[in-house]
Amino acid sequence: MANFDKKIKRIGVYTSGGDAPGMNAAIRAVVRVGIAQGLEVYGIHAGYIGMIDNQIHPLQLGDMANIIQRGGTILKTGRSLEFTKPEGRQKAVNNLLASKIDALVCIGGDGSFRGAHALWEEFKIPVVGVPGTIDNDIYGSDKTIGFDTAVNTALEAIDRIRDTAASHDRLFIVEVMGRNSGFIASHVGLAGGAEEIFTPDGNTTVDKAIDHIKEGIARGKSSSILITAEGQKPGRAYDLADSIRKKTGMDAKVSILGHQQRGGSPTAADRILASRMGAAAVDALQKGYCDIMIGTEGERLIQVPLDIVTKNEKKTQMDLISLANLLAT
Ligand code: ADP
Repeated sequence: MANFDKKIKRIGVYTSGGDAPGMNAAIRAVVRVGIAQGLEVYGIHAGYIGMIDNQIHPLQLGDMANIIQRGGTILKTGRSLEFTKPEGRQKAVNNLLASKIDALVCIGGDGSFRGAHALWEEFKIPVVGVPGTIDNDIYGSDKTIGFDTAVNTALEAIDRIRDTAASHDRLFIVEVMGRNSGFIASHVGLAGGAEEIFTPDGNTTVDKAIDHIKEGIARGKSSSILITAEGQKPGRAYDLADSIRKKTGMDAKVSILGHQQRGGSPTAADRILASRMGAAAVDALQKGYCDIMIGTEGERLIQVPLDIVTKNEKKTQMDLISLANLLAT
């Protein structure tokens, strides 16, 4: 956490890294709260790419009309290798200074916050982060913008799959997003009544999953659903299906949900979270706080230093998985 004492007049807002439903609601909150407080708000196109290419434009109240319900991000998002190098960051800062941007709101994930932290450390550009990622894997915040929508999108798909699984007495393996994080898998698994949940970090084994399926069959269950996070190898569900087939002769159908989990209209919970966090980010800058992320602890908004956010790892709640296992038996 840091303080700065410059009176800010013009702020920039950008979305960066993976997109998430609710980012638009966050942009809207930053712009409308900023303007209501007498600030000028500029939008930066596609995150650090637009910062380096000087795609920095003023945003007005009217530009925010009709976006609260839209998924994706109207500012676009992107990944910039150039920004990870000192020369790239220097270019970006030259553009920010030329546009007279006094402070920034960064809506993104871990990587985006590392970039934001560097802007403060190296150039004293004040930045406040707002966590936007469907993965919910940001240390320091119970919830991230987009997670609730992604979980509900996946759950809707799983409910449909359950109908067909039950009709045909089938075993299904559903792969959800999460390369390094098991949050979507654990939440969807518990809410969807899955027999087994595979997170990216090897929390369980195929043998244990087979035991759970067999226990279910022994007490009359005719269909089962396993949930797996994609982990480091998207398509992991096919490997699991192969192993189960080889070990038991059971035929497992695979369904990979993929990018549909990134899109769609944000849920009420995500719109509310995004609106509150966007507003809190502007308030923090107005008070001279920076190098922080706005997070949640329960229902409460908190401020967490970016250094702590980016240096720590948020762990999947294993208790949810144990409970899902217990309830599915
Ligand atoms: P996310 O923000 O969703 O985690 P990424 O990890 O892809 O997404 O990060 C988004 C962008 O942030 C990267 O393309 C890069 O430009 C910038 N970034 C990531 N790590 C760093 C770093 N250590 N230093 C400076 N910029 C970084």
